[in-house]
Amino acid sequence: MYDLLIRNALVLDGLGSPPARGALAVQDGRIVAVGAVEGASKETLDAGGLALMPGIIDNHTHYDAQITWDPWVSPSPALGVTTAVIGNCGFTIAPCRPADRERVMRNLTQVEGMSLDALRAGIRWDFQTVPQYLDMLERRGAAVNIAAFVGHSSVRTYVMGEAATARAANDAEIEAMRNIVLEGVRAGAIGFATSTSPAHNGANGLPMPSRLADEKELSVLVGSLGEAGRGLFMLTKGGHTQMSFLERLAAESGRPVVVAALLHSSTQPEGVFQDLEAIAAANARGRRLVGAVSCCPLSMDFTLRSPYTFEGLDAWQAALPLKGHAYARKLADPAFRSAVREEINRPAHFRLFNGEWHKVHVVESARPHAEQRSIAELATEAGKDPLDTMLDLALAENLDTVFSALLLNSDEAAVGRMLRDPHALVSLSDAGAHLTFFNDSGFGLHLLGHWSRELGVLSLSEAAWRLTGHPAKIYGIRSRGALRPGYQADLLLFDPQTVNRGPNRRVFDLPAGQPRLTADAIGVHGVWVNGRRIADSNGLRKSDQLPGRLLRDFAA
Ligand SMILES: [Zn+2]
Repeated sequence: MYDLLIRNALVLDGLGSPPARGALAVQDGRIVAVGAVEGASKETLDAGGLALMPGIIDNHTHYDAQITWDPWVSPSPALGVTTAVIGNCGFTIAPCRPADRERVMRNLTQVEGMSLDALRAGIRWDFQTVPQYLDMLERRGAAVNIAAFVGHSSVRTYVMGEAATARAANDAEIEAMRNIVLEGVRAGAIGFATSTSPAHNGANGLPMPSRLADEKELSVLVGSLGEAGRGLFMLTKGGHTQMSFLERLAAESGRPVVVAALLHSSTQPEGVFQDLEAIAAANARGRRLVGAVSCCPLSMDFTLRSPYTFEGLDAWQAALPLKGHAYARKLADPAFRSAVREEINRPAHFRLFNGEWHKVHVVESARPHAEQRSIAELATEAGKDPLDTMLDLALAENLDTVFSALLLNSDEAAVGRMLRDPHALVSLSDAGAHLTFFNDSGFGLHLLGHWSRELGVLSLSEAAWRLTGHPAKIYGIRSRGALRPGYQADLLLFDPQTVNRGPNRRVFDLPAGQPRLTADAIGVHGVWVNGRRIADSNGLRKSDQLPGRLLRDFAA
């Protein structure tokens, strides 16, 4: 007797096979039969021809803090996600000594746009080490399956304290970090994650700790994965980090390397394709590298109080540590402005903002005539320079003006080419981070609805594979990511004619009443994790049951 039988479905197996009409049977949380299924079941569901695929594996999330107060990791499960990888870019909350908690929270506030009040009110610090953090996740449970990286910036802070954001590590410190990474992956972390990106700044505008690591430190820490014989290396790459260095790390450690974030820039249109070619060449030489790409345009809402859009610029560093009047004076300073202007006009291999002022809009302003208009337009109208126009407007409104910048990944021909690249991994939702800037938690539904149905860039089977079987293989996630007998029953039932992510809306449900952006699913009829249904046509079905598991044993 099955626990669940879903009949009359369009089965997408997650491995790229053509869609096939059939049924799927579940028993004890596992798939036991697919196709022409005979036998009785406690519960039977007629799918009425809807599509059934494995649940989405979101390989780039930042739920490390949120999961300690919200085991439902909202909004991902209702958007079809059944497994989330946390700790990306190395921005974890473990390991952490009690004395460093405030420092770690302040860093997250800056780098991942998480409200400090929400973090202070919300994080449950029932751990210090990585194994203790993993045990805590396992004990408390979650709505979806979780895999966690050991995060470089936290490891560095744990070993070096305040010096983590100031200097290279000495040999003894590198050795101490190596032991923590080893201990973490041996306890079941999925790998080691870091960032060398200049966009990643922490408290007081200082670089995130991992950015201070030299090549020796990275070689030793990635090498420890080789020594453990397990784990994957994930990094968000700054423009100065050479692909040849990453290939060397892959070769020396023998471990897979995920290179983020390959986002298409209209002002440097070949940059990501050069990276993908370098990755292809490395694979041809026997390494395992993959480029993390996004299927969503990167657009950010921001005010000048926290302008993530500009904080990666060298010229902006002069303003980063400043607050209040001193900060406002800096924004008004003609020398500061000309340095920023000069840098934006210089070509760069990778940069968030590249002077495309027609893609920066005023969203909320005390001057209604300015709303919904671009900075380029307003500048032309006023006969002023665009940077001056934006900064003068913000300064005149006590920095409350809300802007929206369409930064990267908006050229659909280019993004389509990236999504089809054999060495690309669909990724970068950043779910759980940048909570008021943007929300791409529904990236999987966007791939199915926009890129497959609307644009036909990927077939439905290919899109399903890109979201399930493909990441499962790269990350070594066992018995998930395919509809096969013996696999765990992580399932997504949806209508291929309507599936998509709904529009973003602002809610105030974080600890301390802090805001975030969220979105609802369109065309999702059911989500199951390990055989238990957590969402239906009306969205999430919250209960006391948290069916997700902490994943600790990986094949990669
Ligand atoms: Zn990230």
